[in-house]
Amino acid sequence: MVTITKIRLELADWLYNAGIVGVANILTANDIKYEIGKNYIEFNAEALEQFEEKYFQFFIQKYLKFTSWYRMISFIDYIDNFDEKEFKEQDIEDINKQIEYMKARLTSASYNSGYKIINDKKVNLLKKEKSLKKIKMNKKETLQNALSKAKEQLNIMKDILSYLQQDEVKKIILAKNIMYDIITYFWKDVSFFHNQASTKDMYTEYKKYFLEPVEKYLAEETDKFKLSCFACDRKIDKSSSYGLAWLKSVGVDMSRKTSHFWNFYGDTYICPICNLVYSCIPAGFTVIRDKGLFVNQNSDMNTLIKINGMTVDHNTRFEELEDKSYFAVIDNLKQSEIENIQKEIDNIQIVKLDSANDGRPYTFNILSKEKLILISKNRKTLRSLVEARAKAGKNEFINLYQQVIQRLYQNKNQFDLINKLLKLNLDEEFKRLGYVRTIIKINNSFLGGIMKGKAISYDKIDQIQQMGFRLRQTYTEKKAENKINGISYRLLNALKTKNTAKFMESLINAYMYLNKPIPTEFVDGLKDVDRFQTIGYSFLLGLQGESGIHNKKNDNKEDAANE
Ligand SMILES: [Zn+2]
Repeated sequence: MVTITKIRLELADWLYNAGIVGVANILTANDIKYEIGKNYIEFNAEALEQFEEKYFQFFIQKYLKFTSWYRMISFIDYIDNFDEKEFKEQDIEDINKQIEYMKARLTSASYNSGYKIINDKKVNLLKKEKSLKKIKMNKKETLQNALSKAKEQLNIMKDILSYLQQDEVKKIILAKNIMYDIITYFWKDVSFFHNQASTKDMYTEYKKYFLEPVEKYLAEETDKFKLSCFACDRKIDKSSSYGLAWLKSVGVDMSRKTSHFWNFYGDTYICPICNLVYSCIPAGFTVIRDKGLFVNQNSDMNTLIKINGMTVDHNTRFEELEDKSYFAVIDNLKQSEIENIQKEIDNIQIVKLDSANDGRPYTFNILSKEKLILISKNRKTLRSLVEARAKAGKNEFINLYQQVIQRLYQNKNQFDLINKLLKLNLDEEFKRLGYVRTIIKINNSFLGGIMKGKAISYDKIDQIQQMGFRLRQTYTEKKAENKINGISYRLLNALKTKNTAKFMESLINAYMYLNKPIPTEFVDGLKDVDRFQTIGYSFLLGLQGESGIHNKKNDNKEDAANE
């Protein structure tokens, strides 16, 4: 009888979860089925056959366009379409740029070590590289001269590129690219990163270090073993156990659940299966250049895999990826799930890797249930801010979405941002007051949710905004619009320092000048500093020219869209 060995991986801390998502991603990329349970994935042991190929294949699929191999190969298009009749100085520049890039790559340490692994020695890339020479054009030379040099260089490049496209060469060089562009940020010292393995076949090294021990372990009767794997509790003995020192410094995890993990960091042992899981951490993260992102949540395996299924192309900025991840969380959780998320266990962690920060490469943001609900309620409104930018200085732009979301995650209100934008508007640096209104609304919703009961109804916000606008109109009718900016500055300063007395004084003066009484709505607002600010900023919005009247219809639309 043939027994099919199944391997089940269960959710644990964020690092382990990143490994499981990595395994799942690798299997999916290779069309291998696995079962997804509530808190685990399970697959037949045979899924691990030739897993070393699958491992690299996943990364190559996901990150191909980021690799230097790809950037070199892409030049083939240029070579194929090269038309000598159209040759001009710009071509010299383009070709030289590519030559420079290729020379740097082809002589780099990682390529060098790659050459030693490749069996096909038909082309010696180091020799070829030496004959690649930038085209110099001095004054005496004609474009015709340069053209013959260019053709010669393009021929050399063509040889190099067609060699780089050979299956074996491509496979090794791309694996080297992936190792040093992605995997190296997560682990070191063992397998293909062992200090004596740089000129050995990385596929074989991976197999020897991570896969063969699993195979051996699965064939063993493990019941008799005395030790337990730290990560999964499977029984192990000394000879089948691994340490964790090869994982790059994981810093301090803020989540209560795993903090004890790192206290034992030095002398914990894990089984060969978990060792393999940890090797897949880089496949669980999404990496852009030297930064990585993983969204952790412990409540549902399916959601965890989906949330982290973000696609990237070589134009994606890391910040965009982060934004996408927040929405991915919202999109993958149903409203009822968001509301039912248990406060302490299931907070969602956004784990960021910044490899430039050696001492503490990982940082954590917590997405609490309250924040999820808040973002979920405002998701359309927030999305409308994604492309919004404000000029903050001569060459400085601020991304409004980033600014708003940052404050939400830090549990801070938006008043300082609102103040800044209104100030920029007064200085004529920023015109889109509609965005300020959006931010006031999101903030109001924050005050009503997390800050409990400090929100004001939208009707009231509208009313107040319209009062501001009417005051502006009256000043304009009286041909006194030159006074508006002065009033606005004074009100802004009073709001910034949360000085209600100062605010009221300026407001009363402004109305007295027109022989008008101050609207009673303000008096109510004064009792609470947050309400006072919402009212004050809404008023200013109107005073600076945003009428608030046409917004009403849009608000209703937005609210419906946010549902
Ligand atoms: Zn284990």
